[in-house]
Amino acid sequence: MQPLASVILKKGKEESMERFHPWVFSGAIDRIDGAIEEGDLVSVSRSDGKIIGYGHCAIGSIAVRIFSFGVTIPGDDFWKNRVDQAYILRQQTGLTDAPGTNVYRLIHGEGDGMPGLIADYYNGTVVLQAHTVGMWLVRKAITDALKAVLGTKLIAVYDKSAKTLPFKANIEAKDGYLYGTSSAGEVLEHGNRFRVDWLEGQKTGFFIDQRENRKLLASFAQGKSVLNMFCYTGGFSFSAMQGGALLVHSVDSSAKAIEQTNENVELNFPGDTRHESFVADAFDFMQEIKTKYDVIVLDPPAFAKHRNALSQALQGYKRLNAKAFQQIRPHGILFTFSCSQVVTRNNFREAVFSAAAVAGREVRILHQLSQPVDHPINIYHPEGEYLKGLVLYVE
Ligand code: SAH
Repeated sequence: MQPLASVILKKGKEESMERFHPWVFSGAIDRIDGAIEEGDLVSVSRSDGKIIGYGHCAIGSIAVRIFSFGVTIPGDDFWKNRVDQAYILRQQTGLTDAPGTNVYRLIHGEGDGMPGLIADYYNGTVVLQAHTVGMWLVRKAITDALKAVLGTKLIAVYDKSAKTLPFKANIEAKDGYLYGTSSAGEVLEHGNRFRVDWLEGQKTGFFIDQRENRKLLASFAQGKSVLNMFCYTGGFSFSAMQGGALLVHSVDSSAKAIEQTNENVELNFPGDTRHESFVADAFDFMQEIKTKYDVIVLDPPAFAKHRNALSQALQGYKRLNAKAFQQIRPHGILFTFSCSQVVTRNNFREAVFSAAAVAGREVRILHQLSQPVDHPINIYHPEGEYLKGLVLYVE
């Protein structure tokens, strides 16, 4: 085997990595000893030569993502151990055998010590998404680890990395099964049935991260008119229906998403006339809603994917939330979210606060929401806290 290249940091630039932050920015690197290609395993050392850890290198501002701290080179059973630990966390938090739920995130990147890798479990099928070439290159080892850890609970592993790998890497990955086969399947979340299409759907097929927040919505829905804006496959809508809503409107700009929402309504509440769905742009739809709704859910896609889009994103959140505040009925409940990683909890709060001020409504915070236990945040990597939500009472 070719010796590992070593990435040597500039003097004084090692502090965050010594505090177990997994990202090595290109500006912190003094030199690289040895030849590297994108995705290679490299060691990362201080300027005095002491090894801090091992990770995958990448072209871009995050030049290395460290997954193993300390001087020992990750051995053959490294990925098996990591996947095992990830599974144990889900077991310990009651997700692997939860009654009424058979879908959860099994690997959440940095949160599970596997930066650049996502794995979602859909009632037997694991959908992998590599965001780095390094993780994509070890996908076979990850698949073997999944087989060993999940045993008979695993039917298939589907690799859906073609669109998530950095395009500059030019590796022309194709999506496909790495183990077994399965077709788009049905999953259960809190007793609600969902058709999940991991082949064609957004992300890995479903937004697992809103599971607990969807459940919370049910407790506010009794006798209410509910608008589920950015509904995707309808998750929040079924919670509202389960909770006794009088009327539920689901809106998404994607016709395919609305088709899936309608299919899922039929699965869970066949023939229920309380539900109606609309293919529409959120900003257009919100223009016209008047005071029709007691409860509004706003769960938009990430408005800012990069730091330089932050201020525009905050304007977007402000505009969207102002529309909701202006039109929601008295004693209304607003569930509002941001899933942009670069938008901090404080940023988001401020955007929502200015929206409330624009609308001139009295607003109280009832809940401050986050991502669920299967999307854990590595304490040394605060950037991993991406999902932020507020439940607000609007007088
Ligand atoms: N709340 C959903 C997940 C929302 S994901 C759930 O619980 O599963 C964001 C959704 O917003 C996607 O389905 C996307 O199609 C939709 N979307 C993106 N831009 C939009 C726009 N301008 N207007 C309406 N919907 C939009």
